[in-house]
Amino acid sequence: MGKTDSSTFKEGFKLDKKEILSLIMDENVHYVLKEFSRYVEDYPSPIDFCLCSNCVLDVIALTLNSSPSHYRCLGRHAHREMEEVQRICHDVRVAMKKAIVLVKKRPHHG
Ligand SMILES: [Zn+2]
Repeated sequence: MGKTDSSTFKEGFKLDKKEILSLIMDENVHYVLKEFSRYVEDYPSPIDFCLCSNCVLDVIALTLNSSPSHYRCLGRHAHREMEEVQRICHDVRVAMKKAIVLVKKRPHHG
């Protein structure tokens, strides 16, 4: 029998990794994407960093790696105070600025 994406424990509880991964999300992804759009929108023209898909994905991945996760179960509302959301968005923006500097120095595009 090959490896599957689920395990059964002795109590009969079945851990289905695919199902669990489809029901849990990291809100940080939402904050990073929102802040990236906002940052590009507000950036003074002309934009002096590359917006090709390689560079954008690198900036998003670096930002996600350097900002804390905020996991929650889908379908359940996680109430956050406005101050907390503002703090998270501020921290994401700081991490994103550093990520943009790094990607500008060493871009992975053609
Ligand atoms: Zn690029």
